[in-house]
Amino acid sequence: MTTLNVMTLPGDGIGPEVMDVAIRVLRTLCDVHRIALHLDTGLIGGAAIDDCVRPLTDETIAMCRNADFTLLGAVGGPKWDNVTYDRRPEAGLLKLRKDLDLFANLRPAIVFDALIDASTLKPDIIRGLDIMIVRELTGGVYFGEPRGIEDLPNGEKRGFNTQTYTTSEIERIGRVAFDLAHLRRGHVTSCEKANVMESGVLWRQVMTALHNRDYADTKLDHMYADNCAMQLLKNPAQFDVIVTDNLFGDILSDEAAMLTGSLGMLPSASLGSETGNGKRAAVYEPVHGSAPDIAGKDIANPLAMVLSLAMALRYSIKRGDLADQVENAVKKTLDNGYRTRDLAGQNDTTHITYVSTSEMGDLVIQNLSI
Ligand code: NAD
Repeated sequence: MTTLNVMTLPGDGIGPEVMDVAIRVLRTLCDVHRIALHLDTGLIGGAAIDDCVRPLTDETIAMCRNADFTLLGAVGGPKWDNVTYDRRPEAGLLKLRKDLDLFANLRPAIVFDALIDASTLKPDIIRGLDIMIVRELTGGVYFGEPRGIEDLPNGEKRGFNTQTYTTSEIERIGRVAFDLAHLRRGHVTSCEKANVMESGVLWRQVMTALHNRDYADTKLDHMYADNCAMQLLKNPAQFDVIVTDNLFGDILSDEAAMLTGSLGMLPSASLGSETGNGKRAAVYEPVHGSAPDIAGKDIANPLAMVLSLAMALRYSIKRGDLADQVENAVKKTLDNGYRTRDLAGQNDTTHITYVSTSEMGDLVIQNLSI
């Protein structure tokens, strides 16, 4: 790669604070590894509404499309609660996902040993946990037609939505999951409700055919989504990659995230289709929101944003070595007892030191071991 082109959308609230840390980490890595870095920045959410009334402009989307990847902070806040629905900060996020056709949402659930007490589950159940949930993001019941609320002749109302998936929609999310399994422990669990839904029957058939045709070197299991919800609590270590649809993925990814116990530690990626030259549109962002209650105080946890950067290095520019370096630096910082306030645990000892957002950034950079 000649120059690494990265687009940043800091957004609102704590977004710019955590983004600042991620950019400092990225600059340090690029300096050390002699990677030429070109950074662009744009407005999204409330910051864009204040600037030009719209939560995301087409020019900004084009810059995201042309970048190797996009880092996004967070959007929203009480200041924009009363703007019209299509002008809300969140509409900027939805537009970005739609225009870049970001159909695959990746949510890792990793338990760091140092934070094992943050989970409500017993340490023995979650120690060493490392799951990747792959959720289909642009299809299924959230988008299916017909949908609506209609009046019935008897005076009642009827609300309805349509769950719909085509072969190609299932195949492309399946490929993302199997390709990820190749980079991990080689095991995919596909979740649906084939026992009660035709869309689930097709999902299972397409995943099985894809596996037999192109990914027979990985292991594929099928599981009903409700069983998966139970197994995540009972024996989460059985999972490597879980692939599922938009609705089940929404629920299962939140459940898996909570196994780790801390919102400020959760990264995510949203990926589009490959464009032919091996590139694909990709947006990496923390799972948390703009946290208006703590914005501007330099106390937000920047690690979800930093771990999102690590995902970008691993999946968009295929530099697993750099991603490992970032993830190990985060682990070392936590092992050394440094925490932002959100990570305060019941079993904290005197060895714990509380630090600010920017200090946490300094520590991660020191621990990059370069
Ligand atoms: P939130 O995630 O912003 O905050 C929930 C709680 O977690 C708050 O107490 C907050 O202080 C804390 N928190 C969140 N991230 C933290 C971090 N990195 N470090 C320390 N503490 C952290 O969710 P919310 O309060 O429901 O929403 C606030 C705003 O964010 C709303 O406008 C909402 O629409 C928006 N939002 C945006 C996104 C996004 O940009 N992807 C996601 C969720 C919510």
